[in-house]
Amino acid sequence: MAEKYERLIQWLRDAHAMEMQAETMLKAQASRLENYPDLRSRIEQHVTETQRQAQLLQECITRLGADTSSMKDAAGKITAMMQGLGGAFAGDEVVKGAMAGYTFEHFEISAYAALVAAAEAVGDHQTASACQTIMKEEQAMADWLRDNLPATTRRYLEREAAGQEAKR
Ligand code: MG
Ligand code: FE
Repeated sequence: MAEKYERLIQWLRDAHAMEMQAETMLKAQASRLENYPDLRSRIEQHVTETQRQAQLLQECITRLGADTSSMKDAAGKITAMMQGLGGAFAGDEVVKGAMAGYTFEHFEISAYAALVAAAEAVGDHQTASACQTIMKEEQAMADWLRDNLPATTRRYLEREAAGQEAKR
């Protein structure tokens, strides 16, 4: 049982590091967008959600009696995992950025699916429920990005054809 708790705590820390990274990427992405107001405001909404998610995870970690001082270790691992995606987020191109966002949301969904199972495995229903709540927000963000990718792409192509700034 001790091993299961330790693993759950480690994965919660990983998820916390993932959300901190997500906040940075989303803020940078939103601030770059000038000509895609719907996409920008949905990303800004998700920044707020992401901040709440990080807080929720911190509360779960604290409730499990773990300290939050070793968060930096997890951040290193997660950064390595997300390096590929980071490029597209940082890139100066709206369609690639939206694609990277859609991919990243699914990475998050999979992390929370594993966390729900890990929390249930030790009977920690509060953590399971928190991770379920977060997972729904990630799914909603992924759905929105998918549903809006065609419109974003059309707008990009129209602006480019009209000689207007299209990439951001
Ligand atoms: Mg998130
Ligand atoms: Fe997310």
